Amino acid sequence: MLNVDLHSHSDQSDGVLRADELALRAHQNGVNIWALTDHDEISGLPLANKTALDLGITFINGVEISTIFCQKTIHIVGLNFDANNRNLLDALNSTRQMRDARASLVADKLSGLGVPDALQGALRYVSNPRLIGRVHFAKYLLEIGLCKNIQDAFDKYLGDNKKAFVPMQWLSLEQTINLILGAGGKAVIAHPARYKFTPQQSNAFFDVFKDLGGHAIEVITASNSQDHNKKYAKLALRYGFEASRGSDFHAPGVGQIDLGAMPNLPENLKPVWHDFS
Ligand code: AMP
Ligand code: MN
Ligand code: MN
Ligand code: MN
Repeated sequence: MLNVDLHSHSDQSDGVLRADELALRAHQNGVNIWALTDHDEISGLPLANKTALDLGITFINGVEISTIFCQKTIHIVGLNFDANNRNLLDALNSTRQMRDARASLVADKLSGLGVPDALQGALRYVSNPRLIGRVHFAKYLLEIGLCKNIQDAFDKYLGDNKKAFVPMQWLSLEQTINLILGAGGKAVIAHPARYKFTPQQSNAFFDVFKDLGGHAIEVITASNSQDHNKKYAKLALRYGFEASRGSDFHAPGVGQIDLGAMPNLPENLKPVWHDFS
């Protein structure tokens, strides 16, 4: 059976490995088809593609787009798109600028909480100057001893509606799907179990995603329980969605599922990669 991992992050967003290091790790872990899906950024794709090719891995262009639905942030993964598509490049650029503005506001909030110079602190963990995220702040808060781990930094400060949270107007679901489809790609709902929707919002989310032409859902993702795997396998069948599999790998270390190290897709589902070549 092919080992497929279509969700991972490099140092071009909030992961720690370079795209070529990720490709090597994917290869060592026996991954046959791999996508790099940095947050709102595709600058890692050329190096990922070249290294994967050298190692005999099938590489798929990917991106994880920050999106708003029902005032909540959701993540839509785009796969197998044209990475030179102008509309996509422009929209990702705008989203990254919104991240810059947010970073200043997060730093202001932290300053009000008695944590000065958090922007400078966070920037020391940023390796791509065009992409700053909450994880970079979390690493700084950990460094100065304000939290005991990254999760704790989100629980106390950075997570949704916590003390230093800044709400964002990311792209709408319609905009995100149109961008991905317009660039010839497939739109995939990332880690569906992580959204705190009411049951009504959740139904609306899947209905609207389907109506807008969304293709697939991550049935197998690292943060899923076995019950989640079963639940989203059923949901994929009910909606006629194709199914994806991704580790959402960010960094080597404890608590992380490694590249390619997840359960396989149930065999009755149509893999999102069935027509990737
Ligand atoms: P951002 O895209 O900058 O808003 O940050 C979102 C990223 O932060 C996610 O992709 C995860 O890498 C990380 N993240 C979000 N929530 C948590 C959490 N509760 N604990 C640890 N990391 C988180
Ligand atoms: Mn992340
Ligand atoms: Mn995500
Ligand atoms: Mn991710």
